[in-house]
Amino acid sequence: VVGAGPAGLIAAEVLGRHGVDVTVYDRMPSVGRKFLMAGRGGLNLTHSEPIERFLDRYGDARGRLTPAIDAFSPADLRAWCHDLGIETFVGSSGRVFPTTMKASPLLRAWLKRLESFGVRIMLRSRFHGFNPAGHLLIAGEGEAPQAVPARSVLLALGGASWPKLGSDGRWAGDLIRQGVPVYPLLPANCGVEIAWSDFLRERHAGQPLKRIALTVAGRTVRGEAMVTAEGLEGGVVYAQSAAIRDALARSASVRITLDLRPDLTERELYLHLLRPRGRASLVNHLRKTAGLPPVSVALLHEVGGTPLPSDPMMLAGLIKSVPLTVTGHRPIERAISSAGGVAWEGVDAHFMLRALPGVFVAGEMLDWEAPTGGYLLQGCFSTGVAAAHGILRWLAQEPSASASAALVK
Ligand SMILES: Cc1cc2nc3c(=O)[nH]c(=O)nc-3n(C[C@H](O)[C@H](O)[C@H](O)COP(=O)(O)OP(=O)(O)OC[C@H]3O[C@@H](n4cnc5c(N)ncnc54)[C@H](O)[C@@H]3O)c2cc1C
Repeated sequence: VVGAGPAGLIAAEVLGRHGVDVTVYDRMPSVGRKFLMAGRGGLNLTHSEPIERFLDRYGDARGRLTPAIDAFSPADLRAWCHDLGIETFVGSSGRVFPTTMKASPLLRAWLKRLESFGVRIMLRSRFHGFNPAGHLLIAGEGEAPQAVPARSVLLALGGASWPKLGSDGRWAGDLIRQGVPVYPLLPANCGVEIAWSDFLRERHAGQPLKRIALTVAGRTVRGEAMVTAEGLEGGVVYAQSAAIRDALARSASVRITLDLRPDLTERELYLHLLRPRGRASLVNHLRKTAGLPPVSVALLHEVGGTPLPSDPMMLAGLIKSVPLTVTGHRPIERAISSAGGVAWEGVDAHFMLRALPGVFVAGEMLDWEAPTGGYLLQGCFSTGVAAAHGILRWLAQEPSASASAALVK
């Protein structure tokens, strides 16, 4: 197994449990760095919504991921977690978290279990593709790549976001050279860039916009966002980031619209705004009548100028529809996840690469994307389990099989 993230480690567990002799290689000095980072703000393991809705979150990849998620479902993931001694709970949004919130107690218990199955972990060991004879090449730090004999190989090398945590996407070139179809890795679940005024950037960067709605190309998503020095980040932005990314591929900028009070109709808002302002400042008036925090008022000024329209009808219209121009998305280094990766046409139903018999793939390096909400980790766990079962099948069918020998042909 190459890659000690959730996809690689769960595959190693399934294989180890079945008595397979497993070595996990990872280029970093410790395992699961992105998994641990994911636990920083609360490890959102999966989601509790009905399975049909859950599967829809994977968009075009739904069909390819469904068998894997059916076989290792959100309920199975929670049961697995409980079995490691970590209870989980369903948050108010339906998202599932470990009660500890963090990933570290889970990872500690998991590594002990892997050790009990005899799984070896080799750190500071980088995947370097395959040699001309088709053998897996692994290089220790400062060392030349060495061929590693293996009856089967699982690649679980992640995407290309947050490369300092380990997954840098450099595997793409190695696989393309072997004839594996790979789509470019693109940022997913990432922030967007908006040319704010100095005032907004200096006074309001870092402030949250709670209970808002964001519309992109006619599709509206409710949630939260955060004003940043560069633009906007956060749940609603991530949920729309694929649509924004695709639109930016076609034009230099994209118009998006914020509704700062999605729970009120424009008419209700208008009636609130009719209340006399008296001597209150506009910021106070809008806070009291429309429930808008100063950051929202600053956003209104950003697009509506100063002074803001005094007509309550016009003001209500602006609050319900703040037009913003997105000029770019944040770089992949700052994205939560990546889209693109190993193309499904290059992978068989058991997660084996068609171009490299005996070599399997799992996790974020496959061509699927999903919003935040636990769908990413669930996809990694489910494909890791499915690929491990693919390997068990391969080993059983081809007792003398060797991934490397198969590669030679
Ligand atoms: C800040 C942040 C928060 C997140 N929060 C959540 C969340 O709450 N819920 C959720 O569902 N998802 C979350 N995610 C996404 C989730 O962490 C990833 O989708 C998931 O970790 C991907 O798992 P993976 O096993 O496919 O790859 P990774 O976890 O990226 O693991 C891949 C491993 O491969 C190793 N590797 C890469 N290249 C090589 C090489 N050439 N040689 C050897 N080893 C190599 C890396 O060092 C790494 O250890 C978050 C991501 C980030 C960045």
